[in-house]
Amino acid sequence: MITEHVNRIPVHLDGKTIYDIVLEDSFDALAKEVSALGTEKKKICIIADSNVADLYLDEVTKILSGCCREVTSYVFPAGEENKNLKTVQGAYEHLILNHYDRKDLLVALGGGVTGDLCGFVAATYLRGVDFVQIPTTLLSQVDSGIGGKTGVDIDSYKNMVGAFHMPKLVYTNVSVLRTLPDDQFSGGMGEVIKHGLILDKEYFDWIQTNRAKILAKDADTLKLLIQGSDFIKREVVEIDPTEQNERATLNFGHTLGHAIEKLKNFTMLHGHSVGALAAMNICKERGLVKQDEIDAYKALMEYFFIPTSISGLNTEEVIAATKNDKKMEAGVIKFILLDRVGHAYIDRTVTKDEMERALATIFR
Ligand code: NAD
Ligand code: ZN
Repeated sequence: MITEHVNRIPVHLDGKTIYDIVLEDSFDALAKEVSALGTEKKKICIIADSNVADLYLDEVTKILSGCCREVTSYVFPAGEENKNLKTVQGAYEHLILNHYDRKDLLVALGGGVTGDLCGFVAATYLRGVDFVQIPTTLLSQVDSGIGGKTGVDIDSYKNMVGAFHMPKLVYTNVSVLRTLPDDQFSGGMGEVIKHGLILDKEYFDWIQTNRAKILAKDADTLKLLIQGSDFIKREVVEIDPTEQNERATLNFGHTLGHAIEKLKNFTMLHGHSVGALAAMNICKERGLVKQDEIDAYKALMEYFFIPTSISGLNTEEVIAATKNDKKMEAGVIKFILLDRVGHAYIDRTVTKDEMERALATIFR
């Protein structure tokens, strides 16, 4: 892992830079970065949820007004339950009524819900318009804001409708994390720590060493934390932009995690779904990781208030729920395992018995 500050991480596809992830601790450079996309004659529509709009919409609108023809905004009620086609329809209507054309630009100002939704609107409005991500949650800054996976839910089926649509810029202002509720920060840390497990042991160790400064939201440390995760996510996205294979390793813990989230009616945070800890236990049984490595992971989870067990579910129902998962391929469950801490691989041989024993370690 790189421990000097990097302000710009270019993301490449087929050898070309397709967008930059910019890392700042304010919105000061936003006008310059957006202007560099050639926005002078464009209109910009900012899409934000109600919470983020209250906190940051005025500031961002003012900044963006200086670099384009006109700024409008579409605000929807916060919450995963609004990441749906009804909200998308509302956004389309706003764009149509305000005469947005194909050359105009959308800006997603918010967490993963806003980014996924705005990205989907951008992918489909007039068969595709450009968009910029301004991720404001830890999860979106390290994960959902990068990589161009967009989409919405259909009832309780998550991300069932979507498109790959790359942003033109990801502008990350780490200072907005100061207003993020603690549980959301904790949920984001759940994903961050997994990035280390999947791809970079050195990063995992760095988190352990710097945990106090991370928890205190020290700006410099947060920047290093986010850039470290961004490098990991970028590497996977560049190798496999449309999730044919390698990118699926980012889904470590998701097979059981999503089943648990679904059975809990999505009342728990994604980063709190404990699936990775269960998967670690499968790795341990197979002799791929050691108990003390699981203990170190668990200790780090506890430090960041990430639950290490769940109650109120039984094995059968969780295993049944994994069968509806998108990770099924021709009836075989695609499971992500670690062959060592810092390296994940796709495994198609995980048995029901292994899943049962793994779940037993996280049930209380
Ligand atoms: P979110 O967008 O709902 O944000 C969580 C909460 O924090 C919301 O209430 C929001 O209003 C609030 N908030 C956001 N920024 C804030 C700030 N700076 N200060 C105060 N409050 C703030 O949730 P999330 O965890 O960011 O994202 C979850 C979504 O991301 C899910 O829908 C998931 O499917 C998706 N996701 C997508 C990808 C991808 O690759 N596209 C990857 C992982 C997750
Ligand atoms: Zn995840």
